[in-house]
Amino acid sequence: MKMGAKIKTPYYLIDEEKLLKNLKRIEYLRDHSGVKLILALKCFSVWAVSDLVNKYMDGTTSSSLYETKLGYEKFGKETHAFSVAYSDDDVSEIKDICDKIIFNSVSQLKMFYNRVKHIKIGLRVNPGISYSNFDLADPVRRYSRLGVISQKDIMLVLDNISGLMFHYNCENDDFGSFSNMLDKISKKYEKILSKVEWVSLGGGLYFTKDNYPLDEFCEKLKSFGKKYKIQVYLEPGEAVVTESCELVTTVLDIVKNVKTIAIVDASIEAHMLDLLTYRIAAKINAEVGENEYIIAGRSCLAGDIFGECKIRDKLEVGSEIRFADAAGYTMVKKNWFNGLKMPSIVIKRLSGNLEIVREFLYKDFLCSLS
Ligand SMILES: *Cc1c(COP(=O)(O)O)cnc(C)c1O
Repeated sequence: MKMGAKIKTPYYLIDEEKLLKNLKRIEYLRDHSGVKLILALKCFSVWAVSDLVNKYMDGTTSSSLYETKLGYEKFGKETHAFSVAYSDDDVSEIKDICDKIIFNSVSQLKMFYNRVKHIKIGLRVNPGISYSNFDLADPVRRYSRLGVISQKDIMLVLDNISGLMFHYNCENDDFGSFSNMLDKISKKYEKILSKVEWVSLGGGLYFTKDNYPLDEFCEKLKSFGKKYKIQVYLEPGEAVVTESCELVTTVLDIVKNVKTIAIVDASIEAHMLDLLTYRIAAKINAEVGENEYIIAGRSCLAGDIFGECKIRDKLEVGSEIRFADAAGYTMVKKNWFNGLKMPSIVIKRLSGNLEIVREFLYKDFLCSLS
């Protein structure tokens, strides 16, 4: 690990100071609500910050065998395992490393029950309501395969489980809607809620944003837990890491086609894929001004565009461009499309030291393909 020196772009720059700001809110929430918070690794899995994260969180949750192993090995504390569908091999390994296993369906629960009955078992429920601006990410979209719908089916296996998981939010920063939906769930599932020990309300809640009514949120969760005498869990991903990371790039060329286009040494398709999937413009960290640019990536995809901006400084070859909010759903999704240089992962420690924790080389590209 090298310290100091000028770091070669592209790189993801995780700032522990900014991460700590979110973690402090998480600590407040834990202290004032009694809720346990576990990191959703599918959003962010950079285990080089696990020491910091572990001070404020209770463990991890996962979406696959590999994530479960990562949570167990690199984060520790409580390890929750979920998968939309486990294979036989998955269960063989997972059964020895997780504290809780959550099944997505009654059929999977029955299939594997005998092999996992020594650990706490949960069932994912599809509550039929959700908050999501995107159909692609809406857990209760039409024909959704995520979670059990029939309460009758859940009743029949209630003796085999100790908990339930409801994940029904996506990017929800509206406390009112969360509160209303929790009331609906509370009413609809009253019978089964009073028979389990723990309930996870999933992720997708933006409670670390400025202006989110954290105290009301604490109260709401606390009274929900009290009412049913359950341990409540939240599984935040994005809320843990929001605004804690930048993707730092360099302008390689400037071309013109009616508008002025700056091409950087990264790619939205390969390095910030969610923006492309959900058609959201990247946020560029720069002083606003009169110079207009399209900022584009260097893959051969015509639509590899981070966004348009009006900035104070004129760009030239060699200028640095920093994209904000580059922690969640970026490093876990980066790929080798076009064989582009993969951004390094750099951490700005609380001490102020910059630490390059990972650089990706040609060898990594090569080994990913044969
Ligand atoms: C995606 C997901 C999360 C994390 O969602 P965020 O929006 O990143 O908070 C938590 N739990 C489950 C089951 C998920 O699918």
